[in-house]
Amino acid sequence: MVTAYVGIGANLGDPTHTVRSAIAALQGLTDTRLSASSSLFASAPVDAGGSDFVNAVARIDTTLEAETLLLELQRIEQAFGRERPFRNAPRTLDLDLLLYGQAEILSSRLEVPHPRMTGRAFVLKPLLELDAMIHIPGKGHAQDFLASVEDQRIHAIDCAQASALHSD
Ligand code: ATP
Ligand code: CA
Ligand code: CA
Repeated sequence: MVTAYVGIGANLGDPTHTVRSAIAALQGLTDTRLSASSSLFASAPVDAGGSDFVNAVARIDTTLEAETLLLELQRIEQAFGRERPFRNAPRTLDLDLLLYGQAEILSSRLEVPHPRMTGRAFVLKPLLELDAMIHIPGKGHAQDFLASVEDQRIHAIDCAQASALHSD
């Protein structure tokens, strides 16, 4: 059994609903148990237009191999109608495999730890909420990267604020 962390992001349609539904979909994954999910956060898009993103991180225990888990995450993305016109494009749902136990993986399809996670407040904040002491293999303690992302606009949201955010 491996403990893995999945980054969830959405900024089209009703992103708060999408993120909650994605967490439910992770709960339904084969050979996998959802053990925790973070608060939802709103963050300004990086290198992409459109509304704010809604982000969260989920922690799962799984017996799926990392590459199989990635395929399952992509299957969930497809089920939410995702298109991939370009990197960081507005999207219905994005699921990134952030951490897979202590593994360091580099293949043509998968890089773990996710190579850009340490530069993203919308990953670090929810991840640290789940485990304030978490260590990123090959990189160090997640909390040590917080200072470098403090200029990124992000805040925890609840449902009411989220619907106000996307009502325009
Ligand atoms: P970013 O990776 O910077 O967050 P993105 O999420 O917009 O950008 P995608 O278009 O979703 O990028 O993914 C592009 C490819 O990244 C996928 O086809 C997948 O094979 C590959 N990939 C490599 N490592 C990972 C990972 N840890 N989690 C998810 N996808 C990954
Ligand atoms: Ca991503
Ligand atoms: Ca992705």
